[in-house]
Amino acid sequence: KYPLSTFGRRLALQSGIGELMQDLGDALASGDENLCMLGGGQPAHIPEVDAIWHQRLSEIAADPERTAAFLGDYQPPAGDAAFRDSVARLFRREYGWPITRDHVVITAGGQTAFFLLLNALAGRFDDGRRKKVLLPLVPEYIGYADQSVTGDLFQATRPKIQRIGDHEFKYAIDFDALEIGPEVAAICLSRPTNPSSNVVSDTELRHLAELASEHGIPLLVDNAYGDPFPGVIFTDTSPQWNPSMVLTYSLSKLGLPGTRTGIVIADPEIVQCLAAMNSITALANNNIGQGIVKPLIASGELLNISREVIRPFYRERSDQVRRWLAATLDDTVPYRIHRSEGAFFLWLWLEGLPITSSELYQRLKRRGVLVVSGHYFFFGLEDDDWPHRHECVRISFTASEPVVRRGIEILADEVNQLYAHA
Ligand code: PLP
Repeated sequence: KYPLSTFGRRLALQSGIGELMQDLGDALASGDENLCMLGGGQPAHIPEVDAIWHQRLSEIAADPERTAAFLGDYQPPAGDAAFRDSVARLFRREYGWPITRDHVVITAGGQTAFFLLLNALAGRFDDGRRKKVLLPLVPEYIGYADQSVTGDLFQATRPKIQRIGDHEFKYAIDFDALEIGPEVAAICLSRPTNPSSNVVSDTELRHLAELASEHGIPLLVDNAYGDPFPGVIFTDTSPQWNPSMVLTYSLSKLGLPGTRTGIVIADPEIVQCLAAMNSITALANNNIGQGIVKPLIASGELLNISREVIRPFYRERSDQVRRWLAATLDDTVPYRIHRSEGAFFLWLWLEGLPITSSELYQRLKRRGVLVVSGHYFFFGLEDDDWPHRHECVRISFTASEPVVRRGIEILADEVNQLYAHA
């Protein structure tokens, strides 16, 4: 009815992330027991963890004054000062980083943190220049792909692929292929990476941080699944920070996506930018997530929950689903699963797939199984004829065990038939 501005058109467009969140919401809302939702980044409902959130909400609800403050007060745009203090103390204690609350800012989830950061650092500048964000390794998180309000934002680099045994592989950053010209405004990656579950090693991360410092640009590291919380990381790595790094965390993958709480650790200048953008776009953040986890961050209990409950849960799930895939896919199918190093997904590479991953997604959807076609995650690459882009699917393993198992059986059946008739 109304013509849309460039901003309106860009954000109101159909996007990969839009399609994914719609599928996810529809699947949850439908209550259809035959539907196998292996698509979203929805965290699992781990009973022990859900019980902690219930207990915390009950404690707050039992106190009328706290409830009134919880629901009735606006926070400052950077977030609750005591919460930011407790976050800074936790990272000082755990990793010795010299940070204070001035290095911490809250956003409406990691997604919003990236929307604000990516558009503030790159895109169109007042003097007409355009700058991009370098993705040192794709596939990378689908949720960044359509966030730009001014045009193409990403410059991506193909990874090296290491084949391991008959049915495994791993990506590595191809440092020789990284091009950091004057048009690169920042480097960005998720660790663990959504979708592949790859965890960039400490050495690779240090190398990237050095490159970023040398070029005077920030390195953005998205720790949505990372250490120390929710800690869904299966490799022996540790978080790193220096003043030219911007780290994002989130309460979502702890099982609190409904609270929409992101936490950014960065140089105070970036923190102030984000707080200013929060006030313009949203006035303030949601109080609830910060209120629920504050005592658990202050006591460090959140790290125990992450290490002792959340990480083992997902690690066990990952092992189990890999076993199911191995048992159901025909041995003649040339499949490889990315080494499972963290997050909620298995990344399945079907080399020589007779149809595109997007067509496979459609076929599976018709059979009641939702996965995500891998092609969405290769944004920022020049158009080329790299078949790998159309040969992968992302499988989430956070739904209930019977649902994941049935989904895997149907997926394997479809894939087996495709190769058998090729
Ligand atoms: N970053 C990554 C890698 C993710 O997978 C997600 C969600 O799936 C997000 C960021 C955003 O999550 P939220 O906005 O719920 O913190």
